[in-house]
This record gives sequence, C-alpha cells and structure tokens, in this order.
Amino acid sequence: MPTQPTFFQPPSDEIPKILLPDPARIFLIRAERFDLLAENHSLGEWLAFLGRLSRAQHQALQDMTEVALPDQDALELASAHAIPPISVASFKLPPAWRDVLRQFANDLLPDAPVGARDTLDSLLVTSTEELQRLGEMLLTGEPKSLEDMTRLPFIAAALQVVFTGLASQLDASKMPLMEARSVCPCCGSLPVVSVIRADGPAGNPRYAHCTLCNTEWNIPRATCVACGEEEKLALHEIDGDDGIARAESCEACHSYLKIIYQSKGAIVDPIADDLASVALDMLVDDAGFERSGPNLLLIGAGGDNVDLK
Ligand SMILES: [Zn+2]
Ligand SMILES: [Zn+2]
Repeated sequence: MPTQPTFFQPPSDEIPKILLPDPARIFLIRAERFDLLAENHSLGEWLAFLGRLSRAQHQALQDMTEVALPDQDALELASAHAIPPISVASFKLPPAWRDVLRQFANDLLPDAPVGARDTLDSLLVTSTEELQRLGEMLLTGEPKSLEDMTRLPFIAAALQVVFTGLASQLDASKMPLMEARSVCPCCGSLPVVSVIRADGPAGNPRYAHCTLCNTEWNIPRATCVACGEEEKLALHEIDGDDGIARAESCEACHSYLKIIYQSKGAIVDPIADDLASVALDMLVDDAGFERSGPNLLLIGAGGDNVDLK
C-alpha cells in the first residue's frame, strides 16, 4: 500500500489550495438554494426557515461592525507553524457576535415556526455571560442540556457570520494547508461536506467546505477526508435522486462525509444541499459509519431523528 503519497502531495499550481468566502454572496446564495430546495421537499417548511435564516445571516454580515483579525505578527507566526490563524481553540470571541445574534433573532422572530420562536425569544433575553458560555461551548465543547441543544443552531449561525467575516479578510496566498487535511486552514473546524467543483479550473477539483467559516480547501479526490485513506472507500447514494449528494465512507476510520457535485445542479450550496439530503445520512448511518464533520445548523435536531415540525 502506498504510504499516503497523494494525501500529502501539494496541489498543482493551477488549482488554488484555499478559497476564502465572499462575504457579499455566500449567505445570499445559500438562502436562494434553501428556497429552491424547500419546494416539494418533505422537510420544506424547515428548509424554507433556514433560507430565511441564511438571508438574516447575510444582512447581519453586511451590517456587522468590523471584527479585527489577530495582528500581523500573530498571523505570520500561525503561518510559520501551520496553525489556523483564527483557530476556534484559541480565538477570543469578539463582543460583536452577540449583536449579530440579536439582530438576526429579531429579524427571524415574526415568521419563525412556533418552536424556533420560543428559542429566539429566550435568546433575546439571555444574559451576556450565558451567551458567552454557549458560544464557547459551541466552539470547543459538548452541549450540556437539551435546552442548550435547541439554542446551539442559532449560536452557530451567529458564529458562522463572524468567522466568515474574519476568514474573508485573510490572505489565502500566505496560508498553508494544515498537515491534517481534515481541518480548516483558517479556523481549525471540520468540514461539513466536500464539493466537486465544476465552475473553476479544469479537472473538477475537490474542496472541503468549513462548517463554520465557509473557507474551502483542496482535497485530493478519492481520499478519505478524515484520515487520508485511499483504498477502503465506497460511495453511497439514494437510488433515483438528482445525484447532487453522495456519501463517501471509509472502512479504515469508519467515518463518512458527503460529496456535493456542483455539475449536477445549477446552484448548489454545501450547507443547504447537505441538509436537504438527510435521508442519505440515515442510509450511511444504518450501514455503520459515523459522520466525520457536523452541520452546525442541525445540532439538536439529531442526525437520524429529524423532527422539525
Ligand atoms: Zn473554517
Ligand atoms: Zn478514513
């Protein structure tokens, strides 16, 4: 067996190794994709709500007061040691994230489904200290209670806005990929899915998509995103669907992650298309594989018992 040559091989020069998020478009495209996916879908009501959430994230990002990156010395140090410059393990959450949360909670409240309305109401009166605890828990820890679980998707949505804004200010040309390709080179989070792109350089390169900051990084095709294995992979799909989402499972580490095929849809979005294909998660879970990276908007709903009415 080869000793992981492809996994650590630098990507070819023509393919950008890191694609930073475009703050003017990322959440807007996501909102449009959720709107489209909500039509004629058994989870349509929930997907439509997530479309409104994405639109509120877009507005909050446009209105967000500037959040500063670490200083130049810290960025250079991170680059030299191949450490994510805005690592979730060490980056101090700026107070602006709570303003982002309050803004979109207010935006969403009038049209929110009943269950979400109660959660949004409670978040608007949650103390600064408690919000800080929830924010830090999302980035570094495990939820402690059912109440935490219902609030975390909204906490995650606010932190996605802040970390996307931060990542978009970085200079991708000065950043290395992480030695472990399973983590985001900007923030150190796990990928939500990988995407086979059809809109960029020839050869349809694959990029992992960060579940938090929306950065994408190049991953060789036909390698396990979690462990780098090349031999023991299998693809799973739902018979007769549109072919946009497949799951790549790995017998070496017993994990799976979905692949989203951009060529199969006019617009696809990693987070929206992932949530619209939860049936595929159930299929692969049943086959005994554990998902290697989370979709932060699904925390608390449960991967295999989605009840969002
Ligand atoms: Zn990231
Ligand atoms: Zn693996």
